[in-house]
Amino acid sequence: MSKDQSTNLRRPLRVGLTGGIGSGKTTVCEIFQSLGIPVYSADFWAKWLIEHDEQVKAGILDLLGPEAYDPNGAYNRAWVARIVFDQPEKLSALNALVHPAVEAHSRRWHEAEMEKGAPYTLREAALLIESGGYRFVDALIVVTAPEALRIERVMQRDQVDAAAVKARMAKQMPEEEKLAFADFVINNDGQSALIPQVIAIHRQLTGQNKSK
Ligand code: ATP
Repeated sequence: MSKDQSTNLRRPLRVGLTGGIGSGKTTVCEIFQSLGIPVYSADFWAKWLIEHDEQVKAGILDLLGPEAYDPNGAYNRAWVARIVFDQPEKLSALNALVHPAVEAHSRRWHEAEMEKGAPYTLREAALLIESGGYRFVDALIVVTAPEALRIERVMQRDQVDAAAVKARMAKQMPEEEKLAFADFVINNDGQSALIPQVIAIHRQLTGQNKSK
């Protein structure tokens, strides 16, 4: 159900990919990777930067104090989660440290991948819209699936109950709102095959649809 964007996309292409919990982002990214497209996992790199980027670490220590890290330097994620849960202003300040760092890092990563010859890159993040990161991509793919199916898939994958999945869902923007930001939509409802949908978008992003 993608619309033809190939004529008005800016190049070089940083493409964002998002979707609610259990929508199938990882699964879809694996298909793009099999087509040779480099994928940046924003969640993975955010965690990495929190532990390895000196500027981010210094900012977090300044904001939350020394308990944010164990004596061996590991990030005390559970402690931080408890602190920011009750203090939304601290969560905003933490995000204001981490999000720009991820943005700068992903931009450098994108440029390096393009230099190596990638036609475009994918940046995958569950909260790409909520974090504002979508403003820095040239096109946005939203993966969608019915809520009941998403709950069922995550219950199976993570061995958790429905309430735990719903609690995580409640922190995310509802899927129908996400769709308003989409340049491309991938429907992962279990009925529509994923591979042809990915290939159709890939062809549009690489301009191959015009030569048919
Ligand atoms: P999260 O936001 O939690 O990281 P996600 O959007 O990355 O989730 P996936 O991990 O890709 O979602 O998918 C959730 C689960 O559903 C996984 O176990 C995956 O293997 C399974 N799944 C995804 N798409 C399909 C499909 N079309 N058919 C069958 N199983 C699927």
